[in-house]
Amino acid sequence: MTASRRLPFQQDLEAPAGQHAFRQRLLSWYDRNRRDLPWRNRRDPYRVWVSEIMLQQTRVAAVLGYYARFLRRFPTLEKLAAAREASVLAAWSGLGYYRRARMLHAAARKIVHELEGVFPATSRDLLALPGVGRYTAAAIASIAFNEPAAVVDGNVERVMQRLFGRSLSQREVWVAAEDLLSRNRPGDFNQAMMELGATVCVPMEPLCAACPVVRFCSTRGRGSRNPKAKSQRKREICYALSCQNGEVLLLKRPKDAALMPGMWELPEIEARGPRSSDLQLRHSITITDYRVRVTRTETPLVSGQWVPATRVSKLPLTGLARKILRAAEII
Ligand code: SF4
Repeated sequence: MTASRRLPFQQDLEAPAGQHAFRQRLLSWYDRNRRDLPWRNRRDPYRVWVSEIMLQQTRVAAVLGYYARFLRRFPTLEKLAAAREASVLAAWSGLGYYRRARMLHAAARKIVHELEGVFPATSRDLLALPGVGRYTAAAIASIAFNEPAAVVDGNVERVMQRLFGRSLSQREVWVAAEDLLSRNRPGDFNQAMMELGATVCVPMEPLCAACPVVRFCSTRGRGSRNPKAKSQRKREICYALSCQNGEVLLLKRPKDAALMPGMWELPEIEARGPRSSDLQLRHSITITDYRVRVTRTETPLVSGQWVPATRVSKLPLTGLARKILRAAEII
């Protein structure tokens, strides 16, 4: 990489001495400030792996409850491999991006049935598991097995772009992350970089006054605001909630559906005028805010499958179906 123009008093991040000082500052900040997250308590590869898959495209706060429940339900790799896919999806229900759960399950089966239950211990071997890409392989290998493999996620990429103060290609970001990585504490270093991006070098207004590596940074927050932040779309959507003799009418999405195949949901119906028996709630998926209206009825408005209310919570429900059924106090 070419050297960028440095600010007065800025330390050189591309020289070995600067990189050494950067690692020290970042790691000592991490030791004092890291959040107490359940997957940081033990460096068990199974637990690290589950957390890394859950954290893909999902915020830490949203993952915490699911992580604890998932591990209570599947405390070991063997228990996960022996489970039915529907049970895994049910435990994942509400986290979204269900392909992650399917891949996690397929990988657990592969480890138990093809690798004699031995968890792959290098990033190269981890890459051969379903659902494990370069980032996840490096995260597990560095955190659970201390392999010096750098990770780059959205947080790390943003920190790097700001530190170096110029537009880096994906390849350059990975090269810079490998250069900076601590060989002694690679897992902690990777987590420290992600923690910095998640809590200090945040997307809109980085907290540069609290940044442990401000002396290495080329931008110090300049040009951080993104005026073209995506605006949310709004949509109204209506569902029927039919209950009869302790049963609820549900639909199973087709196995070949592009989104959430095989998951259970309430039947969607045409929009109708508001009624006193309606439930209303809001639900957001990526860039769409849904206003959800639920019509309660004893007589089914569309065909579906009657499921005993006592069984409903064990089904792999879509996140929205679970939210509606909770609001209606059925589960
Ligand atoms: S000084 Fe500011 S912009 Fe630079 S890395 Fe720290 S928080 Fe991010």
